[in-house]
Amino acid sequence: KVLLTSVTVALLAAKWYAPTFNAESLRGAKVLVTGASTGIGEEMAYHYAKFGAQIVITARREKVLQQVVEKCLSMGAQKALYIAADMASDSDPEKVVDFALDQLGGLDYLVLNHIGPTPFSMWEGDMEHVRWLMKVNFFSYAQMTWKALPSLEQSKGSVVVVSSLLGKLTSPFVAPYISTKFALNGFFGALTHELAMKNSNVSITTCTLGLIDTESAMEKVKDVSHVPAYPATEAALNIIKTGATRQRELFYPWYTYIVTVARDFFPDVRDYFIQKSYSYTP
Ligand code: NDP
Repeated sequence: KVLLTSVTVALLAAKWYAPTFNAESLRGAKVLVTGASTGIGEEMAYHYAKFGAQIVITARREKVLQQVVEKCLSMGAQKALYIAADMASDSDPEKVVDFALDQLGGLDYLVLNHIGPTPFSMWEGDMEHVRWLMKVNFFSYAQMTWKALPSLEQSKGSVVVVSSLLGKLTSPFVAPYISTKFALNGFFGALTHELAMKNSNVSITTCTLGLIDTESAMEKVKDVSHVPAYPATEAALNIIKTGATRQRELFYPWYTYIVTVARDFFPDVRDYFIQKSYSYTP
């Protein structure tokens, strides 16, 4: 009861003190969104477009990117360009940042969102996949951030990292994916401190998302999880607003905050719910 009351008060206070989002601040903003051919990244591209931003989007599938770019332009983007790239490659992450810097003449927002496909199943020792996924979901994030930092310093810009409740909490069938999200939270948490130590102009926003109704996520959990899925377009808008107001963390939807706060207070309850949602008893 005490915990629930404290969490509710904290949530209300966070809402009350949250800085006000000014949509005008995104007009003409120079934005790079990764993983924007589908899902939350695609939705973010459309929101940025409606706010009149200048956007570069990236993913692997060129044809799909082309269609997203056309839609962005029709929705009001000042500029919309794409570059096809594979984040598992050593050189593509930097190539993408260079492309955005050249085409937009700098960057205000680096929005890191892409993830590589990964099986939803027990880990059977496939080390090659763990290495590959780390490259896509984690190494490329660090690489792109380092490359973009000088430009972001100049523009008082922001890095927005799309992470997951599975970067805070463990759960079966997604060991490689969870590892990459925990790595992101650790890395960008440390970087936030280091940038503050250097009096940097750059803000870092880390987003803790619960289940969102993208095609890839729904396909994975359809037979195993009964957690409600929240709309991708709303998740995307919340990510953009939290980044634009330079807040350190986003929890979306609301329950991700409660779970994060409660997980170490009540480890038995936490494990009970995980076991229950996957219908197993240890
Ligand atoms: P999707 O699977 O819908 O989209 C993934 C994107 O990444 C696509 O644009 C895909 O495009 C791109 N991508 C995949 N592999 C590569 C690669 N090797 N190189 C470059 N781009 C690649 O993901 P979601 O929209 O569901 O998720 C977006 C973010 O939100 C992720 O960071 C995810 O972890 C996070 N999240 C999502 C949740 C959910 O329930 N949906 C829950 C919690 C967090 P292409 O195939 O064309 O390369």
